[in-house]
Amino acid sequence: MQDPFSNAMAQLDKVAKIKNFDNDIIARLRQPNRDIKVSIPVVMDDGTLKIYEGYRVEYNNVLGPYKGGIRYHASTNISEVKALAFWMSLKCAVIGIPMGGGKGGITVNPKVLSKTELEKLSRGWVQKLSDIIGPRKDVPAPDVNTTGEIMAWMADEYEKITGDKTGAVITGKPIENGGSLGRDTATAQGGFFAFEALKEQLGLNKKCNVAIQGFGNAGANAAEIWQSAGHNIVAVSDSKSGVYNPDGLDVEKLMQFKKDSGAVSGFIQNGVAVKSISNEELLETDCDLLIPAAFENVITEENADKIKARVILELANGPITSAADLILFNKNIVVIPDVLANSGGVAVSYFEWDQNLKNEHWTHDEVFEKLQPMMAESANKVFETAKNSNTDLRMGAFILAIERIEQNL
Ligand code: GLU
Repeated sequence: MQDPFSNAMAQLDKVAKIKNFDNDIIARLRQPNRDIKVSIPVVMDDGTLKIYEGYRVEYNNVLGPYKGGIRYHASTNISEVKALAFWMSLKCAVIGIPMGGGKGGITVNPKVLSKTELEKLSRGWVQKLSDIIGPRKDVPAPDVNTTGEIMAWMADEYEKITGDKTGAVITGKPIENGGSLGRDTATAQGGFFAFEALKEQLGLNKKCNVAIQGFGNAGANAAEIWQSAGHNIVAVSDSKSGVYNPDGLDVEKLMQFKKDSGAVSGFIQNGVAVKSISNEELLETDCDLLIPAAFENVITEENADKIKARVILELANGPITSAADLILFNKNIVVIPDVLANSGGVAVSYFEWDQNLKNEHWTHDEVFEKLQPMMAESANKVFETAKNSNTDLRMGAFILAIERIEQNL
């Protein structure tokens, strides 16, 4: 698999060629301000000691405090976290929020830990990094496999260590712990607002057939949101495999099925077993809109040529390699890039942070009334910028973001 950070840097090389940026700004964006590795000892339920490796990468804080989630995954490593932190810097700039880019992680499969072990590990991450993070310095959030409950443990640990009671050190908290209404669905909802803003220009102003890879927070919410807007969800997959029905899947029933059985495969709709497909087949589904909502590097030069979607909206971070981007561009497949498409999550994280610092509580409607224009305006700006530079939307988003960072240096 291509290293995610090399992919991120290949994207940076590409934009540097297209826009003729000053060498200094490109040089600054080539490495993080700092990357920190910590070891986190945890006494397991059986009394043995395990040491986990944790990370925080503070990439760039020109626009504001470092901002970005914490990922728990067995294959998480510092290079992946660095790439994700780089993309966070651009993402915050694309949507014009006063935040920089950071990311964190722990190399762990959280699914094999008990709740007590998971809590100790999460509190341990904060204990090791409490002097690095802070409401005005570096504000983490959820990412793959990290939940509101984990954010609440972390906020509590930070308060114990520092006495800070604002809760603004971390976002994505449960509502009762100072979280914002709308944060749980914000990534998918933001992607939908971006899609709505661009659908006419992209020729998708119709009932679309949609395929979604990933059925976690982003993917499952996207399935619900697109379906309730009248679109047809023809395929979804989780980490194991997928299901395909050209007449449309019943998302609500599928969510219940996944909850009960732990997988989407095996789903029965109206008494008929729905066709099982692999994750690779899902990506190659004939559809109007493909939404990768899982991991990096799933569309590469190996399979880009087989993609049949008209438009791809990246709810995952980094799902398409730089080489695949070129193949898709030549096939006239439009990619709505991660740094725009999934920025609804960090946008509402920013709203949460803002509410915490002002001790305010916005309604669900207030949150989405702020999110919708932010996403629509950013999407339109990205589209215009790409058009003016005769490039794809990813490069349009990169140009917009880098210009904003450069102006604030
Ligand atoms: N992990 C999410 C992302 O990749 C959200 C980050 C945040 O809310 O700070 O955008």
